Amino acid sequence: MSLRDVIGHRRLTALISRAIDRESLPPTLLFAGPPGVGKWRVARATAQALNCLEPVRDPNGLPFDACGRCRACDRTARHVHVDVIALEPDDRASIKIDVVRDALRDTGFRPFEGKRRAILIRDADTLETAAQNSLLKNLEEPPPGTVFILTTAVPGVLLPTVRSRCMRLRFGRLTAAEVAEALVRDHGQAEGEARAAAPLADGSIGQALALSDLDIGSLRDLAMRLLQQTSGRADIPARLQSASNVVAGLSKKEERADLAAVLRLTASMLRDIEVLNSGADQRVLANPAISGDLSALARSFAGDRARTAFGAVDRALTALERNAGTKVVAEWLAVQL
Ligand SMILES: [Zn+2]
Repeated sequence: MSLRDVIGHRRLTALISRAIDRESLPPTLLFAGPPGVGKWRVARATAQALNCLEPVRDPNGLPFDACGRCRACDRTARHVHVDVIALEPDDRASIKIDVVRDALRDTGFRPFEGKRRAILIRDADTLETAAQNSLLKNLEEPPPGTVFILTTAVPGVLLPTVRSRCMRLRFGRLTAAEVAEALVRDHGQAEGEARAAAPLADGSIGQALALSDLDIGSLRDLAMRLLQQTSGRADIPARLQSASNVVAGLSKKEERADLAAVLRLTASMLRDIEVLNSGADQRVLANPAISGDLSALARSFAGDRARTAFGAVDRALTALERNAGTKVVAEWLAVQL
C-alpha cells in the first residue's frame, strides 16, 4: 500500500509525504483517531515509502511515495521486510514486554536491508505498562535510522510519558463515500451493498464491516416509516406509537446496535432531504435507491425542519451511546422530529 492509495486522510498523507521528501519526518509518531479509519494502513504506507528503492515523485500529487513495485515494496507488502517491524495485540488484546524487547533488540544496529527501520505498534494502548516503560528510552532518543509509529483510538490510555514523546497526527472519520469506496475496493463488496452500509458506519470502515451482518434493508424501512409517521402533524400518541413500531422491529439480540443503525440511517435520509430541498445535484444523495420516498417527504421537512430533526437524531445517538434505554431514546426522538 502506497500513500497515494490510501482512501481519505489527504491532508495527513500529503504532510507525511512532504516530511519524508524533506527528510524531516519526526522519528516518533502517534496516529490517533477513531477505530477503523485506516491509521494502520497509513502507518504501513509510511514504512513502505521510507524504504522504497525507487520512490515516485509526483509534481502534481505527493512529492514522495513508494513505487509499489521494487524489491523493498514487495517485501513490505508481504510483511517480510526485516526493517519493517509490526507489533500487534495478541489474542488477549495485549502487547507484552517481551515482544517489545525483541523488536528493540536490533535498534542499536543500522537497518539491515532498508534505508530506515520502522517499528509500527498497532493499538498501542494495549501495550502493557512495563512494555510502554521499556519503550521510553527509545522514544526519547530514537536510534539513528529508526522511526516509531504508534496507532491508537484512545491516546488517553497511553502513559503520559509515552504520549508526550510522540508527535501526534489526528485522524478524522471518513466520509460515507470514502467508506463505500473502501468497501468495494478492499473488501469486495458490491457497489449497492457498500453504498447502503456506508452511511451507517459513522466514518469507520471497521464499523461498516461489523455491520455487514445487519439486515440493512429492513432497518432502512424502519427509519423511513419513522420519518413518514412523524412527518405530518402527528399527535403525541401517534408519535409514541411510531417509536414502538421502531423498537418492535429491532432484533432482540442486537437491539442497541440496530437502533443506532436506524438513527444513522434516519440522519442520512434527513441529509438527503436537505439536498433535495436545496435543489442540489441528486447524484450526491447517500440513499439514491429511495429517492422517490425521500422526495415525497421533502416538503414536510422544508425550511429548518430537516436540520432541526438532524440535530435531534444526533442527540438521540449520543444518549444511546451513554446507555440510555432504547425505548426512551426512540420515544424522545419521535416526539422531537
Ligand atoms: Zn518501491
